[in-house]
Amino acid sequence: MSIGNLGLQIEEPLLFEQGAPDKTGVDLPAPPPVADRLGGLARRAPIGLPGLSEPEVVRHFTRLSQKNYGIDVGVYPLGSCTMKHNPRLNERLARLPGFADIHPMQPVSTVQGALELIRTLTDWIVKLTGMPAVAMSMGAGAHGELCGLMAIRAALAARGDARRTVLVPDSAHGTNPATAHMCGYAVEPIPHNKRGRVDLAALKARLGPDVAAFMLTNPSTCGLFEDEILEQAAALHAAGAFFYCDGANFNALVGRVRPGDLGIDCMHLNLHKTFSTPHGGGGPGAGPVGAAARLLPYLPLPLVVGDGGGYRLADETDLPQSIGRLSAHGGNAGVLLRAYVYARLLGREGMQRVAEFATLNANYLMARLRQAGFEIAFPARRASHEFVVTLKALKETTGVTAMDLAKRLLDKGFHAPTTYFPQLVPECLLIEPTETESKQTLDAFVQAMQEILEEAQREPQLVKSAPHTTPVRRLDEVKAARELDLAWKPRAH
Ligand SMILES: *Cc1c(COP(=O)(O)O)cnc(C)c1O
Repeated sequence: MSIGNLGLQIEEPLLFEQGAPDKTGVDLPAPPPVADRLGGLARRAPIGLPGLSEPEVVRHFTRLSQKNYGIDVGVYPLGSCTMKHNPRLNERLARLPGFADIHPMQPVSTVQGALELIRTLTDWIVKLTGMPAVAMSMGAGAHGELCGLMAIRAALAARGDARRTVLVPDSAHGTNPATAHMCGYAVEPIPHNKRGRVDLAALKARLGPDVAAFMLTNPSTCGLFEDEILEQAAALHAAGAFFYCDGANFNALVGRVRPGDLGIDCMHLNLHKTFSTPHGGGGPGAGPVGAAARLLPYLPLPLVVGDGGGYRLADETDLPQSIGRLSAHGGNAGVLLRAYVYARLLGREGMQRVAEFATLNANYLMARLRQAGFEIAFPARRASHEFVVTLKALKETTGVTAMDLAKRLLDKGFHAPTTYFPQLVPECLLIEPTETESKQTLDAFVQAMQEILEEAQREPQLVKSAPHTTPVRRLDEVKAARELDLAWKPRAH
């Protein structure tokens, strides 16, 4: 049985390619001539719209809808992305008119329910992270990072401290150095040690009066929990630097560890990952930022705060040192609503089990793939919610690369894992099954991977020339990125 989706295999021409100018899908009487009323503005030639019948149009869009590979179709093991099931209750409640039809510029007295929801979710995030203050208005994880570093920069400026450098481990997510650079900092990498963790000695050796912050991704992109965070925090604080944590992959920790207890000064979450909302081309995100008390004065506005028995939006009079506004309004309210429903649905125990099942599934899959003959890049006793496979040896013996394997997975109806990331591991796949996949699905994925490994050894060319069943085969990805051309040009009539 294939658990994946083979709808990708259909080739579907554009409506423009299927239609013809002389066909029509409607049967209306010819309009009276209007050309004389339009004078010189009247169109002289047809505009080139395709003519199609109604069934042709219906079938076109229905077939297109089947070409998509999404989490609602099959497992989506994209490492670091947490492509997990989005409960349908989220969607139903997000469509309630009392939430869907309100506007951010309505008087706050008319949106008390929405504000209560945001405040309640904020309080839950305070509890789960152990960070005393949380700002909710950021629209993505990277946006949260920007907010965090801007708050840190403002706090340093307020104490007259012109630190210029942000340290980022080589196992961090790529958005971390990008954010630090955007904030005007010089970025310096900190290497990893033999165990795939941040090299504590290298971090300590680099600390000094010019270091503003250290940005730690935990769990890291090596699929490992960092295990010297307390020592990192002590060293950073002794050197006057801030400790930032990229918590986008909080589904590995939620309910189990509170980063605030570990000495983290500032962190973001990705609600669209950990709290289940459609993302990655499927919808917007939310990147709330949790901050230690000493960063609270600099958080962005607006913040939803209690006011007597109700709620209001805190502004510049409440927080005169705020870094300002990072969103036009309070953030992606629909994502916050779905995250609230998700947390409410699972409750305290359920949120704990998110982390347990996320790590259990990853460790099960890692163990089964190792048994099947795959090489695990960091064979730690335990992975976090994801792990890294390296095909370096396979490439040396058969010529089959990580990209070839990823393409061959498409033939078997599976979405490929993240490839060539983290960059520190050659020929790697970063695999995150997430907590919402069943054992049956994980076993089917292992079977597909095992089949490909056997093919690679027996008939490498079959894997190297994959995919065989998709409407387009190998794309020239470099050309696609360098010479982006998304416009279809009509033939001249
Ligand atoms: C996804 C991710 C990000 C970026 O989040 P966006 O919402 O895509 O901006 C940052 N760090 C890590 C570790 C991530 O997995």
